[in-house]
Amino acid sequence: MSGSCPICGAPVVAQYRPFCSKRCADVDLHRWLSGAYAVPALEVDEDFEERAELGGETHRSRRDDGY
Ligand SMILES: [Zn+2]
Repeated sequence: MSGSCPICGAPVVAQYRPFCSKRCADVDLHRWLSGAYAVPALEVDEDFEERAELGGETHRSRRDDGY
């Protein structure tokens, strides 16, 4: 018998088949849930705002690129 965790590739533990641990099982469950519910644009909006803030920081160093 052989098998590896689809999440991290570690050997499968029978108790958590087909994963290696509860953690990886949870990871897969979350992936499955977020895919199944196909969350609309709301979540993307929050992400976008965070990225906009980060983008403001990187703008500074852009000046040096020209020279
Ligand atoms: Zn794993």
